[in-house]
Amino acid sequence: MTHDLLIIGAGPAGLSLALALRNRGLNIGIVERQSSADIANPAFDGREIALTHHSMEILKGFGLGDALAPDISLLARAHVEDGSSPYCLDFDPPPDRQGPLGFLVPNHAIRRALWQAVSNSADITLLDEKNLSHLDIDNAAARVRTTQGDALSARLVVAADNRFSDSRRLMGIGASMHDFGRTMMVCRMEHTVPHQHLALEWFDYGQTVALLPCNGNISSVVITLPAHENARLMALDEVAFAREIERRLKHRCGDMRLASERFGYPLVAVYAHRFADTRFALAGDAAVGMHPVTAHGFNFGLISQEILAQELQAALAGRADLGERAALTRYERRHRMATMPLFLSTNLIATLFTDDRDPARLARKLALRVGKRLPFFRQQVASRLLAHHA
Ligand SMILES: Cc1cc2nc3c(=O)[nH]c(=O)nc-3n(C[C@H](O)[C@H](O)[C@H](O)COP(=O)(O)OP(=O)(O)OC[C@H]3O[C@@H](n4cnc5c(N)ncnc54)[C@H](O)[C@@H]3O)c2cc1C
Repeated sequence: MTHDLLIIGAGPAGLSLALALRNRGLNIGIVERQSSADIANPAFDGREIALTHHSMEILKGFGLGDALAPDISLLARAHVEDGSSPYCLDFDPPPDRQGPLGFLVPNHAIRRALWQAVSNSADITLLDEKNLSHLDIDNAAARVRTTQGDALSARLVVAADNRFSDSRRLMGIGASMHDFGRTMMVCRMEHTVPHQHLALEWFDYGQTVALLPCNGNISSVVITLPAHENARLMALDEVAFAREIERRLKHRCGDMRLASERFGYPLVAVYAHRFADTRFALAGDAAVGMHPVTAHGFNFGLISQEILAQELQAALAGRADLGERAALTRYERRHRMATMPLFLSTNLIATLFTDDRDPARLARKLALRVGKRLPFFRQQVASRLLAHHA
């Protein structure tokens, strides 16, 4: 079967790219190992995705505003604490800007809304329950085979098949990986003290805790711990779990009750050595897999599809081939510039603020004091979240 574009992976990044390129006369195929029923009705996976204003504009531009509306929770402000230090950082929207700092939307709701839009697009076909097994690419075409025996070909293949991308490996593209040796436990909890839509990031000693305000008196509780501690916490019964979380949070949320399943995510950050090759590009987590602490993973995924779609459309407008190398090289350069500084600084923050040794504790205190005295720095972070253009 021949396509113009084959996307490997129907995750949020792959579906977004397909939507960005629909209605342009392209025949787009998405190869996905899950079934179409699972893609249409993704299960809750614990992730509450903090989205910037720019990301929300992209999703609304895809026509997802109404589908996402019931699941959006506003992120009014953010507050960062270190251990028991009295120094903390507050991030507020600048006084001249209307609206919240950002938005929180459950990952499964984003996936469901994206899929609804894709399934209504006549030029996009989902090839579900197909597992990529071979990639054979040359100047003439990109050929894809699946373990189910399919032989497909396209002018361009874009891999959006997660941070441990099979496609990336099949193409011989390496990646820098940083294993933080920690697992992130996420779940929803109901509590008696209202959150007032404030997000908390608390770099405590021995644990990092984030509280993300969902609609109602519900927060997403995110705790980063060594794997064995995480396994113990996940195995507790609901009542013992709630009591332990109340204690770990120093009772700041009042009485708490588990309101969802618990999920554990091992923390490994990944940055591909290259984002492009002949008739091939990486997008989403397959290109840049972020540590979630600065909440940029899918925001970067949306930026990757946005830049790639712009470059591909420019190539098509100039009557160039869809797999033209020059367009892919420009994508690689722009996406690297958009992501590398934040990738490195996020890894630094995640490493420093999970290191409880004395020199690191001192550096952590200093970092917060300096940040507190630099309103310009805080405004920069806030405006990044509020930015309307990448
Ligand atoms: C706990 C947690 C919290 C997060 N919070 C935030 C946040 O606040 N803000 C934010 O922006 N981001 C956040 N993220 C990151 C965000 O979830 C990811 O960046 C995003 O889901 C990545 O999307 P993707 O489409 O690139 O990859 P994925 O969602 O991993 O999708 C990849 C798809 O490819 C398919 N696939 C894989 N291999 C193959 C194969 N060989 N053949 C066929 N199909 C294949 C998979 O089945 C899957 O459907 C968070 C992540 C975690 C873990």
